[in-house]
Amino acid sequence: MTQSLEQLRGEVDALNRQILELLSRRGEVVARIGQLKSEEGQRHYDPSREDQQLRELVALNPGPFSDATVKAIFKEIFKASLNLEEVNDKQVLLVSRSKQPEDTVLDIGKLRIGGKAPPLMIAGPCSIESEEQMMVTAAFLAEQGVSILRGGAFKPRTSPYGFQGLGPEGLRIGKQAARAGGQLFVTEIMDTRDIEIMSEYADILQVGARNMQNFALLREVGRSRLPVLLKRGLAATVEEWLYAAEYILSEGNASVILCERGIRTFEKWTRNTLDLSAVVLAKQETHLPVIVDVTHAAGRRDLLLPLARAALAAGADGIHVEVHPNPATALSDNEQQLDFAGYREFAAGLQPFLEAATRYR
Ligand code: PEP
Ligand code: MN
Repeated sequence: MTQSLEQLRGEVDALNRQILELLSRRGEVVARIGQLKSEEGQRHYDPSREDQQLRELVALNPGPFSDATVKAIFKEIFKASLNLEEVNDKQVLLVSRSKQPEDTVLDIGKLRIGGKAPPLMIAGPCSIESEEQMMVTAAFLAEQGVSILRGGAFKPRTSPYGFQGLGPEGLRIGKQAARAGGQLFVTEIMDTRDIEIMSEYADILQVGARNMQNFALLREVGRSRLPVLLKRGLAATVEEWLYAAEYILSEGNASVILCERGIRTFEKWTRNTLDLSAVVLAKQETHLPVIVDVTHAAGRRDLLLPLARAALAAGADGIHVEVHPNPATALSDNEQQLDFAGYREFAAGLQPFLEAATRYR
């Protein structure tokens, strides 16, 4: 006895409900897998795992659908599952705008950074070399209205024979100079063992590009109460950069400033390639302040001003630039640091853009 159309449709409806129930259960398992992968910093998309599943399904295919059709249907299910993993992922991140829609505004001393605060300048030499060098630089930059003095005491150098920085003596000099100029002092931390001495001298801890994925260091600065300037890694994706920030926030330190400093590309006429889309993305995806280090991005003086102007137009919360009393004799990065006359010109050229950016915020 043949079944009526009605009966067959009823059967299909029941099967639909079963498929939906199975799909939802599958979705829940996938979400748990997604969470595990995020915790372990693993990529969600795994083509070899997809391939394995498809081969298994095709081998089991009883028909009437062709192998190609079964593959196409499951490929859609995989795509939807991947979306689910990634959406869940973004929602749980502490750095994300979905977690905190309003901008994080950091109050550091009498300075504010982020949100509607005017973009600020961070300037100073690449390396702290002497008391004299830091005192004159701090005084000059103070007169120029720069509120944050930079300078490395522990330097991440490509060669172990390059100048490695003055260490603790450099920290002492840096803080002294910044205080004399009424400025905050930002300096790079490279080793978890230095956290105590750093906390004694630095107002802001810098995590450099080379240490962006030094997870032990990220956790250590995350346990500190000092604000952290987190540079983007030499070849880090935006996602990796934001996960690095997440390490810091996940340890309880929400005072993170992101710093785009150029990434490695095939381009040889600049030291790195300034990625302004990363600045915009980081501003959109996170609630953290984002600044731009034009010096390390460009690696040449003639590009600093236009790049800084572009960074402000893209919504950057500040500009970072290296300034040295006599760059020719600098112990690191002597190709790219500005001298005082150069900084004066840079600052004058940037001023209208700073004002416009402030109004536009
Ligand atoms: C620095 O700012 O001194 C520095 C080494 O920069 P980066 O980590 O961006 O290379
Ligand atoms: Mn430098």
